[in-house]
Amino acid sequence: MTGSAENLAAILARIDAARKKAVRPAPSTTLIAVTKTHDAEAIRPVLAAGHRVFGENRVQEAMGKWPALRSAYPGIELHLIGPLQSNKTREAVETFDAIHSLDRPRLAHALKAEIEKSGKAMTLFIQVNTGEEPQKAGVAPLDAAGFIALCRDDLKLPVKGLMCIPPHDENPAPHFALLQKLARENGLPLLSMGMSDDFESAIKFGATHVRVGSAIFGERPNARPANPH
Ligand SMILES: *Cc1c(COP(=O)(O)O)cnc(C)c1O
Repeated sequence: MTGSAENLAAILARIDAARKKAVRPAPSTTLIAVTKTHDAEAIRPVLAAGHRVFGENRVQEAMGKWPALRSAYPGIELHLIGPLQSNKTREAVETFDAIHSLDRPRLAHALKAEIEKSGKAMTLFIQVNTGEEPQKAGVAPLDAAGFIALCRDDLKLPVKGLMCIPPHDENPAPHFALLQKLARENGLPLLSMGMSDDFESAIKFGATHVRVGSAIFGERPNARPANPH
């Protein structure tokens, strides 16, 4: 088995190669190393290799491991990529620099209050349920423009991009294309899309942020069933 630092280097090289091959790649593509379920010891080699951008999908779990890592390694940028409950927004704004799962008015209002109170510079992504899966979070594609307008124009939230998680049993390319189209139509510069199995395809469609976990850290120890519903 190779170590996570070697895996990191290999993924960064593949991102570079995919960007060179892409006809119109984004101006830059940031690798978010997804550390959910992995403890601080598993994360350290990747920090030691110089990587600073990470993703977690649960607020509570991130609060447990990242404050100590942040003080040990300056310059960390932490992204929340999982669902957020409206009553956890204070902790989320304290713990994270970016949130990828904004998808409903109640959460938008709660985030506005917390971001204003804290004065913290945040980056927000609106999650779009491109596959219109009933069990999945995200705003429906047809509702995206209206929700973006509410968040960005009415509430003045720092919404900079869109995020999607394509259905896991489908070709992701049409979903990436749809997300790219929605971002372009609505004047949003950032696109969070692509995971271990499909980040190269996402880069073709202009991904500015790819979220890669298992290809760096290995299979997750207590991964939940693929389809819990
Ligand atoms: C876990 C997770 C990832 C990373 O998935 P891998 O297949 O391990 O790369 C990306 N995005 C979200 C939203 C996740 O929850």
